[in-house]
Amino acid sequence: MHISDNFYNFASANQYINNKNMAYIITDDCVMCGTCEGECPSGAISEGDGKYVIDPEVCADCGTCADACPSGAIVPAE
Ligand code: SF4
Ligand code: SF4
Repeated sequence: MHISDNFYNFASANQYINNKNMAYIITDDCVMCGTCEGECPSGAISEGDGKYVIDPEVCADCGTCADACPSGAIVPAE
């Protein structure tokens, strides 16, 4: 009973981490305005080469950046 409970919790945690790491991405529609970097509460966004980028290890999947982006360049990753 305890073993299967622990396995379930482990599998759920892994699924959560995987989903978290796939949270949001910035597409080529980015116009480098910088708005998202200032809006992210986790500090996950930085200026990249030609567009801003989200660090999937830091992103908390809150969606704030997607709502703030004026060009609709930030979308949930599949
Ligand atoms: S808010 Fe949108 S357009 Fe502006 S830097 Fe971020 S992803 Fe690019
Ligand atoms: S979804 Fe939230 S935590 Fe992730 S990059 Fe956007 S604002 Fe930051």
